[in-house]
Amino acid sequence: MEKVIIMGSGPAGYTAAIYACRAGLSPLIISGNVLGGQAGLTAEVENYPGFPEAISGFELMERMKQQAERLGTRVVIDEVTAADLSSRPFKLTTHGSNYETEALIIATGVAPRKLGVPGEKEYTGRGVSYCATCDGFFYKGKTVAVVGGGDAAVEEALYLSRLADKVYVIHRRNRLRAQQIAQDRARRRENISFIWNSVVRAILGAETVNAVLLNNMESGEESTLPVDGVFIYIGSDPNTRLFVGQLELDANGYIVTDRRCHTSVPGVFAAGDVQELVLKQIATAVGTGAIAAMEADKFLAELEDRAYPPRQ
Ligand code: NAP
Repeated sequence: MEKVIIMGSGPAGYTAAIYACRAGLSPLIISGNVLGGQAGLTAEVENYPGFPEAISGFELMERMKQQAERLGTRVVIDEVTAADLSSRPFKLTTHGSNYETEALIIATGVAPRKLGVPGEKEYTGRGVSYCATCDGFFYKGKTVAVVGGGDAAVEEALYLSRLADKVYVIHRRNRLRAQQIAQDRARRRENISFIWNSVVRAILGAETVNAVLLNNMESGEESTLPVDGVFIYIGSDPNTRLFVGQLELDANGYIVTDRRCHTSVPGVFAAGDVQELVLKQIATAVGTGAIAAMEADKFLAELEDRAYPPRQ
């Protein structure tokens, strides 16, 4: 029986663990299948305070993990496959074990959205990727396409432009959504070209990807663009499949919480990107992770009839 289990090992999960440790709760993190979450897959983080020279997402998440573990967090590398939140203690099943916990913090984040076009599934791992930091190396000296116009697409296009010979950013509109500083950098980068008002209709290839079929939304014209790889950054969807019918979710599947990270079930808290946050950033995930942990401690203090906050 655990006092508090934290699902997810992104910035929200590790921060919740750090605060839970300092409240004496000895938390257990169940990592999920992407250790470090989406932040850990980010090439370069430039807007998280305290790192004036920027830091790789992988290193930042490693540091958060080390900090959480040094304070007493146990991290289990496993994935929750079923959750029963109908009564306390809450019950979780993973590939390797069963757990019971008095309080639960859900920090399961988001997963990359799929384009849903022919060839995408078939060529995933053979030219189609959702992670430039993981797979960019294989495209040294080659030509790649990045699909999307948000922060992730533009920042990862910049990263890829340091490896690939040529990077095409394919965006469905003629205006990017990404922050201005990243846009300006991408426009200045000589080997990045933008293909505006265009969508990918299919990903083509033989053994591996060799082209994308494009459709210009304005002219209706179709064309084939030869590329060796396609990196898809068209947003993400929350990892909340296990909670459908158990927690209140919004229309897009994000967990509805109040300002204190309480979900619709007492004792279950949510933090980070899996919440309906107005701003999805490492800085906001970290803040909500801290709130969720302190609220979990308050909840447990009431159960155990002990003082809150505890005397340090
Ligand atoms: P996002 O901001 O939702 O952008 C998704 C992009 O993909 C948009 O440009 C969208 O086009 C396009 N798109 C969506 N569905 C599409 C489809 N079916 N076909 C073609 N294009 C499609 O997602 P994100 O870039 O992954 O970022 C997610 C959140 O994380 C954002 O809040 C972002 O600010 C944050 N983030 C921040 C940083 C940073 O601060 N350094 C880095 C990465 C992510 P439209 O523009 O036409 O809608």
